[in-house]
Amino acid sequence: MTTMISVDEALVIIKAKIKPLVNQQTVILPNALGKTLAEDIISPMNVPVYQNSAMDGYAFHYKEMPANAEKTLENIGTSFAGTPFEGELREGQCIRIMTGAKIPENADTVIEQEKVTVNDNQISISSGIKQGQNVRHIGEDIAQGSVVLSSGQKLGAAQMGVLASLGLASLKIKRPIRVAIFSSGDEICSIGESLHGSQIYDSNRYTISGLLKDLGVDVIDLGVIPDNRESITRALLQGASEADMVITSGGVSVGDADYIKQCLQESGQIHFSKLHLKPGRPLTFGQLNKTHFFGLPGNPVAVMVTFMYFVRPAIKMLMGHKDISLFQFKVPCQTSLRKLPGRTEIQRGVLEQDPKLGLVVKTTGKQGSGVLSSMCKGNCFIYLDHESQSINTGDNVTVHPFSSF
Ligand code: AMP
Ligand code: MG
Repeated sequence: MTTMISVDEALVIIKAKIKPLVNQQTVILPNALGKTLAEDIISPMNVPVYQNSAMDGYAFHYKEMPANAEKTLENIGTSFAGTPFEGELREGQCIRIMTGAKIPENADTVIEQEKVTVNDNQISISSGIKQGQNVRHIGEDIAQGSVVLSSGQKLGAAQMGVLASLGLASLKIKRPIRVAIFSSGDEICSIGESLHGSQIYDSNRYTISGLLKDLGVDVIDLGVIPDNRESITRALLQGASEADMVITSGGVSVGDADYIKQCLQESGQIHFSKLHLKPGRPLTFGQLNKTHFFGLPGNPVAVMVTFMYFVRPAIKMLMGHKDISLFQFKVPCQTSLRKLPGRTEIQRGVLEQDPKLGLVVKTTGKQGSGVLSSMCKGNCFIYLDHESQSINTGDNVTVHPFSSF
């Protein structure tokens, strides 16, 4: 299929073709970091499980405090974290309490130790106390029975802590997605080998595997494949037999040595292979049996752009993520940008703080699709949609910060 389609049409096709993988496995908590949750986590308990102090200080009942006046209370014991005070508080009494220690019966308020005057076991408290201050209540962080984390969520450091705080020693995660990658081109040379004649070093495989590993994907690296049909077909079929997705770079354009599409057509199916997009026009999406296929262009910037806007959402869909929308906002553009309506253009920009205007964006400069350094210089994509025309200095543009991918 050679019809040229828009970015939005391409995303509709990808969404229609990609369904979440259902494979799950049970792992112990320490092995879950970076993985995707395959179950909703319902809290088996309240966190905190008992009322405790948020400060080192003294616990007492608020009713002891007369309005706008100081009060002296008798200190009758101590509550430590792990060793609570077992007695009962009577009128005119308080206890010494440490951070995390249980609040005793008949107490509901804690005053920081820095704010009291201590005279033997007499504790003087000045006015201005609020009832319940410095007390962490049962279930105030997580209530028993509530959904703490949802299936499809990625487990980072914060999520690991929350799961541990619930005492969950093992949980169900999705089996990591497996992606086979190769670079294609007679001129492509792997790092560690010396360049001969008109060879260039392979950068795409390192970019792509970096982007995949960031997503928690298992990468199967099939290396560099030369521009001949037999080798390409063999690599495609090997990838299809071992992985959930095959990603290649190079060889999808209209040059005489661009064989990927032809080989894909012979062994599988092409869903689209030409987009109204710059950079990334020859992006090819298809399948080999049940394995999804993305043929990325060869130019290194086009590789990153097409990965971020098409491959990444596809992988997130395979992982079962429900929300694959991008974090975006509009800011004034400090440079004029040339743009033709009728195709989406994705430029590299630098978001920065202007002392007068607030957040603004400017171009990284040269936007050639081989200028990979623009991805290191920039911190966002400037997204100029299908219909938009050239941008004048000061016009608002949509940006997608790299940190949000
Ligand atoms: P192609 O689509 O195969 O014609 O490649 C387009 C451009 O990207 C050419 O300049 C290639 O040399 C370059 N290119 C292709 N693959 C890679 C790669 N793996 N690493 C760096 N540059 C590449
Ligand atoms: Mg090539």
